[in-house]
Amino acid sequence: MEKVGLPSLALKWGIESGKFLSLIFWTKAMQYFDTHAHLGLIVEDPIEQLIIIQEARQASVNRIVSICNSLHDFARVYENLKSTANVYHAVGVSPSEVQNPGRNWLQTIEQSVQLPRVIAIGEIGLDYYRKFGDKKSQIELFITQLDLAAKLNMPVIIHNRDAGHDVLEILRDRLPPRGGVLHCYSEDAAYAREAQKLNLYFSFAGNLTYKNARNLHETIPELPLDRILIESESPFMAPTGQKGKRNMPKYLPETALHLAKMLDMEPEAMAAQLWENANRFFGLPNE
Ligand SMILES: [Zn+2]
Repeated sequence: MEKVGLPSLALKWGIESGKFLSLIFWTKAMQYFDTHAHLGLIVEDPIEQLIIIQEARQASVNRIVSICNSLHDFARVYENLKSTANVYHAVGVSPSEVQNPGRNWLQTIEQSVQLPRVIAIGEIGLDYYRKFGDKKSQIELFITQLDLAAKLNMPVIIHNRDAGHDVLEILRDRLPPRGGVLHCYSEDAAYAREAQKLNLYFSFAGNLTYKNARNLHETIPELPLDRILIESESPFMAPTGQKGKRNMPKYLPETALHLAKMLDMEPEAMAAQLWENANRFFGLPNE
């Protein structure tokens, strides 16, 4: 019997059912921008990092912002991926590093921002949940980097855990002109209403797909569509379909599809909107 491979079967099905054109449209149109992936925390091995990016591309996750908590993370991942097409980088010191940001950290950020493919300062912010250092030193670290972002004209990626009030208070005075994104949004709709008065974007991770995330489900319909981003926050926050697994950028489409369903939009239209939003925020061409 003649062996028929999967691609030729798909082709046959496409031609016979007249779905071929829409199939092409579908694969071309759907692409996703992972605005926040800790590539260095998913795997340390440089080759495995490249594999993860390749797998993401196979899942149509065509752009990724590699995020870091420390400048040490940044230097390592950047060195490995600086010439990888479609991977961009953010640099900054997160509150987890407040007690040891590294020598000349401010200067290091300022220099790193000049490097090719570095497009944001982050993640920066406040984390009162894990009690890193004291509040005062976290706030100082946050403000210093917001001011640097203003000086360098960069957007910021903002971490907030149990510190919503202080984050918003500080951003009211200090948000740089290019704006910021509240990454892995986990506050409620009332908070989002306040935050919308500032030049902020709202980024949702896999937790959007969790049944118990009522605060997020109430927030989404209130947000302007052009202010929504998605992210993997990998290796954390895997979407429901992958729950319990180490999260990867390749799982991001599940979050986009969930969002489309929540807002009663076509998946293609939602993907295109999210793609455009992310490019606008990071100042990249929308292609
Ligand atoms: Zn993160």
